Amino acid sequence: GAKARGRGAWCFFHETMTQAARERLALESRLRLALAQGHMEVYYQPQVDIATGRIAGAEALVRWNDPDEGLISPARFIPVAETSGVIGPLGEWVLREVCRQGRQWRDEGLPEVTLAVNVSPRQFHLTDVAGCTAAALADAGFPAALLELEITESALAERAEEALQVLLGLRGLGVRIAVDDFGTGYSSLAQLKRFPIDVLKIDQGFTRDIPQSADDMAISAAIIAMGHSMGLSVLAEGVETPAQLEFLQERGCDAYQGYLCSRPLRAPAFAALLRAQRP
Ligand code: C2E
Ligand code: MG
Ligand code: MG
Ligand code: MG
Repeated sequence: GAKARGRGAWCFFHETMTQAARERLALESRLRLALAQGHMEVYYQPQVDIATGRIAGAEALVRWNDPDEGLISPARFIPVAETSGVIGPLGEWVLREVCRQGRQWRDEGLPEVTLAVNVSPRQFHLTDVAGCTAAALADAGFPAALLELEITESALAERAEEALQVLLGLRGLGVRIAVDDFGTGYSSLAQLKRFPIDVLKIDQGFTRDIPQSADDMAISAAIIAMGHSMGLSVLAEGVETPAQLEFLQERGCDAYQGYLCSRPLRAPAFAALLRAQRP
């Protein structure tokens, strides 16, 4: 009967499932469990205002502390979260955790900084990002003006009309919007111009080979000039050397993030850095 056929189908599926697919499925269920058991942690990477040299913000970067495996990189589990749908609850958890932490830092009297949260393409297109953000801000009592959402250029290029509506919803809340991995996503300038954006983040792929690569220097300089002509702030990612910073400073880049200042830090270490630079 139907039951036998169903079972047969399952066995067939099971036997032909590749090793990679099985590992993915295992990782997906471990990911759901890790989220439920509180094994996720948000790290903060300082964002430096190039003109003043002061920390003006931080990017929130999620980490998975597995009791057996240790720290698991988001490069490994975000793609799994994306394809499995775990990205919805995970993204909401990060958003709520950052708003809670930001509110706590304010209550402790730390200098005011912007906190940036990554929104993955699938989360951006399939979940109610504006609704989630509004609820997270209200529940934590964190000001919208201090929250920035990072959306990748490719997510914006995909279904641009729909993306525009989501961005307008976010803009209505008063949060800032950054375009992540800029220069890698093939968005058109005409599109970009219509989006309510505040910041362009130059992808670290372009920063990495400054000053050896003339092409990458030309691209970075062009992004800075273009961003400024559109009234946007420009931040360079992955800055590791003084030579890279010097080049970006000469071109008028507004801010940077990278190992030259700091790796992503656990919350207490980031708070200590902020406290240390109080006037
Ligand atoms: P991203 O948003 O482009 O983040 C920048 C990545 O570059 C981070 O890797 C950061 O640790 C790394 N990085 C920063 N400075 C340097 C540097 O000077 N040199 C080098 N070589 N690398 C640097 P991470 O933390 O492993 O995150 C990787 C990606 O995972 C992020 O790329 C982002 O797309 C995603 N991700 C991380 N946290 C979240 C999250 O909470 N939600 C979502 N949706 N995605 C996240
Ligand atoms: Mg980012
Ligand atoms: Mg980035
Ligand atoms: Mg990147």
